[in-house]
Amino acid sequence: MRSDTFFLLLSILILVPGVAGSEEPAARYLIELDEAASHRMHIEARVPAEGIDSVTMWMAVWTPGSYKIREYSKNIEALTARDSAGRALPVEKLTKNRWRISCPYSDEVVVQYQAYGRTQSVRNCFIDSDGAMLNGAATFLIPEGGEEGPFDVRIVLPEDWTGCETSLPRHPDGASTHYLATDIDNLFDNPIVAGNLLVETFEVDEIPHWLVFQGDRSLWDCPKTADDVRRIVEEQVRFWGVIPYRGYRFLNVIAESGGGLEHLESTLMLTSRWSYRDRKKYRGWLGLVSHEFFHTWNVKRLRPRALGPFDYNREVYTDDLWIVEGITSFYDDLLLARAGLLDRKQYLEKLSKQIESLQETPGRLLHPLSTTSRDAWIKHYLPDENSVNSTISYYTKGAVVGFLLDTHIRSLSGGTHSLDEVMRLAYHRYSGERGYESVEFRSTASEVAGTDLSDWFQFHVDEAGELDYSAALAWLGLRFKDPTEKEGEEKEEEDEVQEGWMGLEASDRGGRVVITSVRVGTPAFDSGLNVDDEVVAIDGYRLLPGQWEARRKQHPPGSVVNVMVSRRGGLREIKIELIVKPQESWKIEVIEDASEEQRMRLAAWLGRAGQEALEEEAKKKAEEKTEKESSPEED
Ligand SMILES: [Zn+2]
Repeated sequence: MRSDTFFLLLSILILVPGVAGSEEPAARYLIELDEAASHRMHIEARVPAEGIDSVTMWMAVWTPGSYKIREYSKNIEALTARDSAGRALPVEKLTKNRWRISCPYSDEVVVQYQAYGRTQSVRNCFIDSDGAMLNGAATFLIPEGGEEGPFDVRIVLPEDWTGCETSLPRHPDGASTHYLATDIDNLFDNPIVAGNLLVETFEVDEIPHWLVFQGDRSLWDCPKTADDVRRIVEEQVRFWGVIPYRGYRFLNVIAESGGGLEHLESTLMLTSRWSYRDRKKYRGWLGLVSHEFFHTWNVKRLRPRALGPFDYNREVYTDDLWIVEGITSFYDDLLLARAGLLDRKQYLEKLSKQIESLQETPGRLLHPLSTTSRDAWIKHYLPDENSVNSTISYYTKGAVVGFLLDTHIRSLSGGTHSLDEVMRLAYHRYSGERGYESVEFRSTASEVAGTDLSDWFQFHVDEAGELDYSAALAWLGLRFKDPTEKEGEEKEEEDEVQEGWMGLEASDRGGRVVITSVRVGTPAFDSGLNVDDEVVAIDGYRLLPGQWEARRKQHPPGSVVNVMVSRRGGLREIKIELIVKPQESWKIEVIEDASEEQRMRLAAWLGRAGQEALEEEAKKKAEEKTEKESSPEED
């Protein structure tokens, strides 16, 4: 069933008897997109003004799920106001995001503004001749005092656009592209995509799901993609045991950047037209789908108390983004494995990468998880060249801590309990209006584990210590690969000379070789090389763009080289002693002679990917056996 028909039915069944239709809207918006080619939309907002002297309109400075002040009002152009008879009304700009309109003799204020949108990001608006992607917080001016809504939204599409998709509630009048948001959160939490759309529909437990493509999907097999998305939905519904929505939209915009943002009944995702046929990238996209969809429970409904209702005018603070984003990042790929969309090897590679990324970030020893969450506004969303040394992402460390917490609970309870159960119990207790405090989530975990985990959380979340993976890996029959052991192509290169290591990254920029990263605790850091230094020469020989990788390998460990750099225009020579690259391996492998118990635990943990790996191993063993038995006869 097409979404339009479904929501027409829903609006008749559900919306009419409720609030909608009976209450006068706090604002009625008309969005016109006929100037989309110039990246602009024209918006008219009609606000009732009977008996009041002025109306103040304001615009959000951020949008939930992305913890950065984005100053959406900077995109507002040419704001004017008039009364219902067309007479101009005076507008006074009060602050960066508030406008006051005097209207002592009017029963209605009509505000007209133009909004510019040309940022291809899921937290902004992007408007062009092919289509539009609109975010509520970056689109609507709200009448102060009218936040409880409802809000009437009508969208007029250019003639050559075929459709518009959003999970905004349809207006009871049933007209296409006419919606009625219940309140401000509802208005802001339902992004809109419009243009020439393609919609794939599937049902899980009789609930409709729509996979919407906007942009050039000619290289995508859309029905096959919808089938994979359906498998993700089924796996996650199995995980949580409950479907908390009446319909869900995956809004997939084919563009030139990436990313996703979670919403109550939809997600907005950006991907590339090249990401389907490149299978590694496609698996990455499936991971994005899995991540955003997991948020349907973890954060959109089960949330830290601070995350809702939102203050859209300033930052909100929580210590628990490691639960919101980290645990979601732990489960996104794990649930792909359980659904059979990643095999065991592919999943273990993803887990290895997460651990490697954490271990290669010196900032992990400075910044505890709980404060990285609080600092999201100034650190994670405002990264600079020093971020790697001063902080750690709550996505990365949160996912790794999620892995350690899961295996810890499993091993404490002899495999009878898990983090899965903690999430379900927390959802049952705290989802909806209530929200949770950090301590409540932690005690739920202790309860499931059957042991007080306060010290465990203190160390893993509130302190910045080095993590220990040995117990977690051993429980599942896994280990880190020996870094000195070489395989395949690496083996053939054994007679190559050893290369020295500086511990910096450089890349070509504007015809120069420029240092882009210097990590604490490396020869480059200790010798005083800086980010943004242009490397002019090494040991007296000119270094040209494209030569960095080849030339840095020329010098063996123990050698001292002179690196000539240009820093703010001044030339200087810096001596640096190269060392052997620290060979720590974070690549996880299955222990070959793991016990039967370990093998079973790993298989159960990985679901379908685990079972398939076991079956493959058994098949291989059987083949080897047959080969052995048949070989004497062949001789
Ligand atoms: Zn997320």
